[in-house]
Amino acid sequence: MSVNDIVIVGAGQAGFQAAASLREAGFAGRLTLIGEEAVLPYQRPPLSKAYLAGKTDARGLLLRQESFFSDHAISHRPETRAARIDREGRQVRLADGESLPYDHLVLATGTRNRPLPVPGAELAGVRQLRSLDDADALRADIESAGRIVVVGAGFIGLEFAAVCAGRGLSVTVIEAAGRVMARAVSPETSEAFRAFHEEAGVHFLFEAGVTAIEGEGGRAVAVRTADGHRLPADLVLVGIGVLPNQELAEAAGLPVRDGIEVDAFLATPDPAVSAIGDCVRFPSRFAHGLPGGDRVRIESVQNAVDQGRSLAARLTGRPAAYDAVPWFWSDQGPRKLQIAGLAGPGDASVPRRAGAGFSVFRFRDGALSAVESVDRPADHMAARRLLASAKSLTPEQAADPGFDLKALATA
Ligand code: NAP
Repeated sequence: MSVNDIVIVGAGQAGFQAAASLREAGFAGRLTLIGEEAVLPYQRPPLSKAYLAGKTDARGLLLRQESFFSDHAISHRPETRAARIDREGRQVRLADGESLPYDHLVLATGTRNRPLPVPGAELAGVRQLRSLDDADALRADIESAGRIVVVGAGFIGLEFAAVCAGRGLSVTVIEAAGRVMARAVSPETSEAFRAFHEEAGVHFLFEAGVTAIEGEGGRAVAVRTADGHRLPADLVLVGIGVLPNQELAEAAGLPVRDGIEVDAFLATPDPAVSAIGDCVRFPSRFAHGLPGGDRVRIESVQNAVDQGRSLAARLTGRPAAYDAVPWFWSDQGPRKLQIAGLAGPGDASVPRRAGAGFSVFRFRDGALSAVESVDRPADHMAARRLLASAKSLTPEQAADPGFDLKALATA
């Protein structure tokens, strides 16, 4: 059946990209992009970096200006929530009762922040960071806050801590694991970033659990930890990970397991429904040998963009299995961390140092699995190529600063 009417649920990076790429690929049918937020689709990465630091304004975050949507006949519907999917009738029921018919439905519902399950988490002065509204509130808060407690030493927590420390604020980061970014990087990279942040004045409490947030007059004043610390705070930022928005799919009878399950073509078992971005679990050769098996859910801009493009290609008659190399980046103070590939907790680490910065090459079952680069963009680009082509690199070559990575990557 030909597709004339596509509805995309979720106007984040993945949903926007699917819409833009569909038009670029010549899709001439009806295209509707619905999103819960009131604004045009925007980039989230700067919210915890340049935007938070006041170096860019909200307009600078937009993925496209308003005219793009009218010029490309993309019906963007802000402040619109999909409440139910009627798969048999091929309709999306909106929260306001309206029904949108579709030939093909794209779920790009993303993730939401994991709530901190302790007393006091609802107090004023306890915030999370996900949306532009959250970032605006935090920008205002850090104008007057003196003491900041961050819960979670993941990407959000560390990027936020770096911006606050850069403003001379007192920052303590509480982390459940024994090191920063424990799930994403090697112990060597964690250690380097702990040292960078400590040099900038950030304090860390590791293997620490938050038991309560104390309030006075409805406002947070301190954070209590399981080992008996009481940390006074004017502002508490919680960045303890995310949960996939899969309930819409689940209620429609589609398979979910920490993400909406899709195949290598980003298709659900219903041929009229696909899913992309942070909310999906998909098969990936890069996940081979990881504890979760060969399927993975990836939270990144690269994954959202590349899956949006891949799906648009399939829906316009050029199907190909999704096989993009995963990559990530994080700006923390003056340091740029770039990661290519997916490492597991047991992967070996091979540091490579030459000139400024360093990289850590990770190996699983003797094969290159990921490369973490700190202020080494050339290593990162070479790593992406090596991983894409599955060229073999030995740990000895990786460790040798004289070995020409670029030549191997481009050979
Ligand atoms: P994250 O990177 O998954 O980090 C969450 C951290 O909080 C983990 O280290 C986690 O430890 C820890 N944690 C979990 N529960 C805790 C608790 N009760 N007390 C203290 N620590 C706890 O998630 P995030 O930083 O919240 O980021 C949210 C989303 O935004 C993610 O999708 C992330 O990828 C994205 N983001 C990405 C970037 C980037 O790529 N540069 C920047 C900002 C945000 P365990 O691992 O041990 O659970």
